[in-house]
Amino acid sequence: MKKYNFYAGPSILSPYAIEETAKAVKDFAGTGLSLLEISHRSKEFQAVMDEAQALVKELYDVPEGYDVVFLGGGASLQFCMVPYNLLKKKASYIDTGTWANKAIKEAKLFGEVEVVASSADKNYTYIPKGWKASADSDYFHYTSNNTIYGTETIETPDVPLRLVCDMSSDFMSHPVDISKYDLIYAGAQKNAGPAGVTVIIVKKDVLGQAPRPIPTMLNYETHVKKGSMFNTPPCLPVYTVLQTLKWYKELGGLKALEQRAIERSSMLYDEIDRNKLFVGTAVPEDRSRMNVCFVMAPEYKDLEEEFAAYAKDCGMVGVKGHRSVGGFRASLYNAMPLEGVKALVACMQEFEKKH
Ligand SMILES: *Cc1c(COP(=O)(O)O)cnc(C)c1O
Repeated sequence: MKKYNFYAGPSILSPYAIEETAKAVKDFAGTGLSLLEISHRSKEFQAVMDEAQALVKELYDVPEGYDVVFLGGGASLQFCMVPYNLLKKKASYIDTGTWANKAIKEAKLFGEVEVVASSADKNYTYIPKGWKASADSDYFHYTSNNTIYGTETIETPDVPLRLVCDMSSDFMSHPVDISKYDLIYAGAQKNAGPAGVTVIIVKKDVLGQAPRPIPTMLNYETHVKKGSMFNTPPCLPVYTVLQTLKWYKELGGLKALEQRAIERSSMLYDEIDRNKLFVGTAVPEDRSRMNVCFVMAPEYKDLEEEFAAYAKDCGMVGVKGHRSVGGFRASLYNAMPLEGVKALVACMQEFEKKH
């Protein structure tokens, strides 16, 4: 039976990226060596790094004055690297869920943190609106897509501060005006590649102003100056990110990826809204295109386990809510084909007929 991968991360990759990576593991760029054993200083790997950086710039139409960096440590390392490098006295954050909270916790180690708003009161089912950030903050940080709760901010917030965004789970899913941002980071394993590498887009002029010494490895300037080759980079993940980006370009770039994301997510939300057994958890205006969260309708609550087992039998893998919220979550990242969503919808309809 055909299986569809709805895991939230690590998550679905294109067959192209997997195939190309498998080939390079056996014979990388005609060198007769495996990608796993080749020197990162070889000209063949340098070409991979250069092309990956160039393709991020091309796909996002990154203006002059920005650098693209590939680092290990996951998006979670960025929670501390951002304030380490950018927080002088005070920073503003918005609390839209678990990941935002973790970022806030780290920032507090470096200075004053203003939490401009929080949606914790309703278990993060909406994005707070109508808040204001202090004009004297060094930057404003937000999480564009809340992977666990299925809420998303598509429009860039209009905040007259330096702007920092954790784009881990909706990276490369729609065009973004990069010139409005000072730093963007994204753990690759949601929408850009396998686990092990984080993509950072940083405006050069924000660096070098921190009022504290920064350990070499945690200083963005180190990695910008050395083109992400200060130390050994995560070679294999970077290679798979490059294949993924090539595939994105082939599909037509971010506009095309956005169309696909809208098509997939509306199809599933339409079914959730129609099907008497299910209800969506996020408020409709803030629904994520990447992570669709839903639960059994209150009168069918006792069918939860049965549906989980049924979906699994239909070949739907990973349609399970995060352990902190329960219910269901179908992650519809860029590599998810529309057929996957159609199959999930069919499974939900068959289950409805049985009840
Ligand atoms: C998964 C995730 C993270 C954490 O990523 P790691 O690479 O595991 O550190 C951070 N932010 C968001 C929005 C995520 O979805």
